[in-house]
Amino acid sequence: MLPEKQDNTTDIETARVRRLEVNFNKPLSIRQLDLSELLRNLASRLQTSLEIDRLLGFFFDEVCNLVPLRGLSYRHVGTDSNLQFGEAEGFVVNYSLSNQADSLGELRLFSQYQLSMLALEQLESAVNCMLFPLRNALLYRHALQASLKDSLTGAGNRMALEQNLAREIELSRRHDQAMSVIMLDMDHFKTLNDTHGHQAGDAALKATALLLKEQLRNVDMVFRFGGEEFVLVLSNTGLEAAAVVAERIRAAIQNLCFLVGEKQVRLSASLGCATYQSSESQEALLRRADQALYQAKRDGRNRMCAASV
Ligand code: GH3
Ligand code: MG
Ligand code: MG
Repeated sequence: MLPEKQDNTTDIETARVRRLEVNFNKPLSIRQLDLSELLRNLASRLQTSLEIDRLLGFFFDEVCNLVPLRGLSYRHVGTDSNLQFGEAEGFVVNYSLSNQADSLGELRLFSQYQLSMLALEQLESAVNCMLFPLRNALLYRHALQASLKDSLTGAGNRMALEQNLAREIELSRRHDQAMSVIMLDMDHFKTLNDTHGHQAGDAALKATALLLKEQLRNVDMVFRFGGEEFVLVLSNTGLEAAAVVAERIRAAIQNLCFLVGEKQVRLSASLGCATYQSSESQEALLRRADQALYQAKRDGRNRMCAASV
């Protein structure tokens, strides 16, 4: 059986570090540092944060005292984490990090020269030191993300709306650029529930949330405001462009092929849009979008209405 290091796998309690694609041809001697002291420093710094970027920053900072790295990149799909320190160039050592069956992400370390076996072993010790703090930080990030999501539709919830809208208003003020919101309310949704059942209603809300995400740009945001109402936040978008988006969404919902069993059920929504006015509060902006929405309802539903300035 091969020794553990040649197997590129290190088991530390339940956590595993896997080193991939390493070429040992041209070893480079490294500065001899006291590894145990470095690990002590690293461990104590890693205890001070639950933020993934801070942990990786500490790691990069400390490890550079041991091995001259050019850069570090880290990716964890489950929590949508994608980070880079320094330059992602040169020779690369890949680590696939995991804890039992859970992936803890892909870590890539870049160096100008090919690293020696000793350097690689020292790097692995440092990576191992980061595994449990990283697992905790990922759990924390996941819990934070879940607390900002609506569990039925996966859209942002009210709390997420408040936070993001505050940030967008601040950006809009600072850069003097337009920002708009669209408020959307499904038409006659109570009838849909009464006719086809609550489960069909839930499925319609999920399908609508998916459609909204597909219709919008990456930078735009979708939130479930409550019940059968959604709010869309469109950064860098004026009232005319927001009205075009609202109309496109209205048409897409009307044309959605929503099936209950074998039967196609028609959905429709009414929408109101409003553009941020300088020094207006978040509540005032949403109120104006809501008033425009109710105008659309009064005008007969399945339409969009833009708020007057
Ligand atoms: P309008 O066109 O005036 O908006 O009529 P409406 O029936 O959509 O509005 P109303 O406010 O009378 O009813 C909203 C309905 O949405 C009633 C409520 O049961 C339903 N609803 C709210 N949240 C959910 C949900 O999470 N799932 C389901 N299935 N229905 C929901
Ligand atoms: Mg409603
Ligand atoms: Mg409704």
